[in-house]
Amino acid sequence: MSDIRYLDWPFFEPRHAQMQRELDTWAHEHVSQHAHADVDAECRALVKSLGAGGWLRHAVAGTIYGGSADNIDTRALCLMRETLARHSGLADFAFAMQGLGSGAISLHGTAAQKQRYLTRVASGTAIAAFALSEPEAGSDVAAMSCAARIDGEHAVLDGEKTWISNGGIADFYVVFARSGEAEGARGISAFIVDAGTTGFEIAERIDVIAPHPLARLKFSSCRIPLAQRIGEGGQGFKIAMRTLDVFRTSVAAAALGMARRAMDEALQRATTRQMFKQRLADFQLTQASLAKMATTIDSAALLTYRAAWLRDQGQNVTREAAMAKMAATEGAQQVIDAAVQMFGGRGVVSEQPVERLYREIRALRIYEGATEVQQLIIARELLK
Ligand SMILES: Cc1cc2nc3c(=O)[nH]c(=O)nc-3n(C[C@H](O)[C@H](O)[C@H](O)COP(=O)(O)OP(=O)(O)OC[C@H]3O[C@@H](n4cnc5c(N)ncnc54)[C@H](O)[C@@H]3O)c2cc1C
Repeated sequence: MSDIRYLDWPFFEPRHAQMQRELDTWAHEHVSQHAHADVDAECRALVKSLGAGGWLRHAVAGTIYGGSADNIDTRALCLMRETLARHSGLADFAFAMQGLGSGAISLHGTAAQKQRYLTRVASGTAIAAFALSEPEAGSDVAAMSCAARIDGEHAVLDGEKTWISNGGIADFYVVFARSGEAEGARGISAFIVDAGTTGFEIAERIDVIAPHPLARLKFSSCRIPLAQRIGEGGQGFKIAMRTLDVFRTSVAAAALGMARRAMDEALQRATTRQMFKQRLADFQLTQASLAKMATTIDSAALLTYRAAWLRDQGQNVTREAAMAKMAATEGAQQVIDAAVQMFGGRGVVSEQPVERLYREIRALRIYEGATEVQQLIIARELLK
């Protein structure tokens, strides 16, 4: 690995470094580096295996519900995503979605909801999904139109959600819908919808650049008991944003893991490839590229773990998480591109590690707030 000294940085406690080393060893034994024809089956197997290994306990809050601590440890979450992403984008995805999909329950669920869902998420026996985006409401999420009409002790959902990770394989979906308590963001609520509920269907499966389960969901007069609502009516937008606040920094960490892997691959290639009677690494042009890659990685790591550490100190990290996500995802794209270039023709051969990374990194610059949205958040904080 290109650099493990960062585990000595003051952001971490000794338990973090120990956990990272144990997970790395586990991933070497349990995570496949090869593409699988059946991505759904692979994801299900990864969730099961991460659960059996005890790793999913870090994705949920509350020790009595199977969590490793009463609050989500952001630094642990980030180190785990970074480590898994270095091995496999899909392993990182399977881990991260258990956390994002159940995050609203960890933060705002009732004891009964936590008991029913978090325990199964932590053990890897239930797969979670987070359903916020809609065809006409992505970056402008408060424009959502999926409706939740309150009818006695039930909410009746009508509308669509799209780009939903784990769509089609999840056991439950945390769905955000317009419940109408007020205009705009104040009129949204969050509901837990079990797979198989009448009136809820997977309308379309969506294939993307780096395969992972993704779907468009459709709700038609779908009746949900009000006991499945998370928090009060009208609190859904706040709940979604609080959940994303935890996980946005972890997207930066996943990008960092991918960049570190690309760096490892590039170093290996540059020091072994012979041309013009010397190694690729002996050329100053190559050295300049390697230096830029390493500096981009360290800058991203510093921003990522600053945001994670601050959050673990109980501080607001809106600005820091946005900076980390923007710098780490954009930086990783550049680092991976430079690694592909160093590999020459081999860099674009299907399923070569750098080719896989080149496809895997792309969506991270878009989801959980595209780079432009992060820029707006940072500027808004500056201009307050
Ligand atoms: C692989 C993948 C997995 C996903 N998983 C989930 C999930 O599990 N749950 C979920 O709810 N959603 C998920 N999403 C959806 C994701 O969050 C949205 O795609 C994202 O928020 C962007 O929304 P959009 O696609 O509608 O793009 P749009 O909102 O149409 O934005 C398009 C582009 O416009 C630019 N842009 C946006 N705002 C501005 C601005 N103010 N000024 C200038 N330019 C701007 C950005 O470059 C942006 O990429 C996923 C998406 C992908 C690709």
